[in-house]
Amino acid sequence: MCGKIKKLPVILLSLFLFWGCNEKNTVTTVNENKNEPVLRDVFAMDTYMNLKAYGSNAEKAIEESENRIYELEKELSATLEESDIWMLDNSAGKAVDVCDDTVTLIKKALEIGDKTGGALDITIYPVLKEWGFTTGEYKIPEKNRIDELLKNVDYRNISINNNTISLPENVQIDLGALAKGYTGDEIMKIMKSRGVTSAIVSLGGNVQSLGSKTDGSPWKVAVRDPFLEDKDMCVVDIIDKAVITSGNYERFFYGEDGKKYWHIIDPSDGYPADNGLVSVTVIGDNGLECDALSTALFVLGYDKTVEFLRSTPQYDVILVTDDRKIYYTQGIASSFKNISDMPAEVISVD
Ligand code: ADP
Ligand code: MG
Repeated sequence: MCGKIKKLPVILLSLFLFWGCNEKNTVTTVNENKNEPVLRDVFAMDTYMNLKAYGSNAEKAIEESENRIYELEKELSATLEESDIWMLDNSAGKAVDVCDDTVTLIKKALEIGDKTGGALDITIYPVLKEWGFTTGEYKIPEKNRIDELLKNVDYRNISINNNTISLPENVQIDLGALAKGYTGDEIMKIMKSRGVTSAIVSLGGNVQSLGSKTDGSPWKVAVRDPFLEDKDMCVVDIIDKAVITSGNYERFFYGEDGKKYWHIIDPSDGYPADNGLVSVTVIGDNGLECDALSTALFVLGYDKTVEFLRSTPQYDVILVTDDRKIYYTQGIASSFKNISDMPAEVISVD
């Protein structure tokens, strides 16, 4: 692992890095039938993942992808002791040397934090913990407890100097909003470098694809109906894209007041973001950005999301509002198929 409080002797640290980076992959089999996919189910990052790749190099690419997933989990998990994030969260204000992946993710989180007026704020973690979303021991915190914790929530307090990161004391982060998107990107990179031209992965419902199906037709990706358990609401065609959803049905509980509380927190008040949206899907080329944005736009709500899309037209979105309506962008209109009982209409961005 790269995560180390800065004081470790340099030689020891480099030995550690050398060993850490040379874990070998044990891959032997070759997929002879180009039309048969190689499939792999993985449980990591607290989620079920399915990988599927075609072609003669698929087996090797899948094996490497699985190893990469575990490697990233070890670096990025907030709960695994010795991960970069765990080291940062337990650094008591000291600087920590972290892996390149961690730097990339934190930099992107700060950038999207800026672009969304702080809707994405990875320092929300202590508030998330207070609600019990990290342990499943859910509770509605006292308002003054939330306000006290919010004093330490501000992503602009994170300082980055090359691979050295420091958080002020009492500031803690987690990358749950964007780690899976990055993981998907990394898998696609491995697939490409191994010569795979057709692959699709689902990382807990986040779908990322390489190329098209082997017959040249686009992948058909379904997005879940946020109001119905285990039912899809629409299907879109994609080639070489990420389709990433944040919804209020993924992790939630009902309070004693009968109200539903979910795991995406509005950093402006420390309560589950309740700005009119119950599901946000972002479709684009870069999984990391789509993932960060799916969480941020969920916090922003419908109007601010439409405003955001005006200045950032390279993404397509599918939004579901709490009054049961689906809105989607023009870019996916030709393939968008509504299979729900909700009305669906194109968002007019201009
Ligand atoms: P998932 O698909 O795993 O549910 P999301 O992309 O929807 O993930 O992000 C939700 C996760 O992001 C939460 O579990 C939490 O770790 C983190 N999170 C919640 N609210 C925010 C926020 N406003 N800014 C940054 N991270 C957040
Ligand atoms: Mg996200």
